[in-house]
Amino acid sequence: MSVYINLLPFMKKINDAPAFLQDWGGGVEISTDGPHWHGDTDWAQEKERFASYAGDIGVHLPIWELNLASVQFPQYAAYSFEAYRTYLEWASTFASHAVLHTHLYNMPLFHREEAQALSKHYIKQLGDIAEQKGIMLLVENVGFHDKMLFDEREFVQLFEEIPAIQALLDVGHATINNWDIANVIEALGTRLSALHLHDNDGENDLHLPIGAGVTRWNEIWQAVAEQTHSLRLILEYDESASLEVLKRHGNELLQAGKVVGKINV
Ligand SMILES: [Zn+2]
Repeated sequence: MSVYINLLPFMKKINDAPAFLQDWGGGVEISTDGPHWHGDTDWAQEKERFASYAGDIGVHLPIWELNLASVQFPQYAAYSFEAYRTYLEWASTFASHAVLHTHLYNMPLFHREEAQALSKHYIKQLGDIAEQKGIMLLVENVGFHDKMLFDEREFVQLFEEIPAIQALLDVGHATINNWDIANVIEALGTRLSALHLHDNDGENDLHLPIGAGVTRWNEIWQAVAEQTHSLRLILEYDESASLEVLKRHGNELLQAGKVVGKINV
């Protein structure tokens, strides 16, 4: 079990991150939608920013504007693949994992089956590149309700179809879609390598601290504890999260594999 903190809370104050990380004993997951949550990522600068960080580093590939599953505009899907490929190759020079969304999460799915096929076509190629470059490609469940490209069963199946990738289960997204999270963890088995951990009200993707929403954490902790292979537990709190709570939850995960303390947010 390893524990990571996604640096989303630092998106608009990235220069505060080094002080926070000084006494953090786990890994970090960095974003690539620009250090201030918009604009370009300066690759040299971002790589340099964490060069002296002692812990493990993961990279969340871009979230906005790219879409591997654009059926209407196949050149846009092809461009998105190229962009992801270059980010993935960059990430492989310093990070141990990269997180990929299956599609642009808020896109209406007018041609769902075709969109699934297109997404899989590119995910498979990115998985092969990741394997060649020695970085783990984690594919994450995104999109809510009618914008969910892969449902509970299809998400599990994705990893049966594409051996070169591993699953990242975002429990906040799964909560909004009413997935049986413990069941998905069990069904994925060793194909599950990571979880994005955050909470919400069951309707909105709030990225709240664990315990601040409706997620049934006891079932999740139990399902996680039953896994005998290594999992990456990644706290993905939003920018309004208290840094003190973030650090405390990170330390509890490191020590106990779950958040055990009184939840006070
Ligand atoms: Zn996530």
